[in-house]
Amino acid sequence: MNKAIFLDRDGTINVDYGYVHSISKFEFLKNSIEGLKILNDLGYKLVIITNQSGIGRGYYTIDDYNKLNNYMLEKLGEFGINIAKVYMCPHISSDNCNCRKPKLELFYKAIKELNIDTSNSFAIGDRERDLAICNVEDVSGILLTSDTSDKYICKNDLLDAAKYIKKINR
Ligand SMILES: [Zn+2]
Repeated sequence: MNKAIFLDRDGTINVDYGYVHSISKFEFLKNSIEGLKILNDLGYKLVIITNQSGIGRGYYTIDDYNKLNNYMLEKLGEFGINIAKVYMCPHISSDNCNCRKPKLELFYKAIKELNIDTSNSFAIGDRERDLAICNVEDVSGILLTSDTSDKYICKNDLLDAAKYIKKINR
């Protein structure tokens, strides 16, 4: 089985200015590439799970999303970072789908498709909904925030999170 990191995209990997969809405005967060590199080198499968309700709202198309996604994967590849798979929900809340976080369908799809060992895996995101899987499975959650939380480990950014994971060496 594989250990994995379930990652949010907007606000975790790249700057979230709302409905991010154009390559020209896509900006990696400071330290995120360095953090992803450490996690990849530790042998974790990197899995991105992202809500893209901008598609459901008609702000951009699946084609726009795919272009940006390919660009992001290519840029990360230049740093030797391999993303095992990206899972995306295009819906809005009122669609009541099962894939929009905090719903868990995409997490379970990843667990099955990538043969993930949840007990050796982490979820990292800037919102609690990114860590929803931690409520029902033995995945550890890391919330990216400058605040504190009673429920999750809190780190400032992906690099801090990666260093923490490296230190506890799971
Ligand atoms: Zn959905």
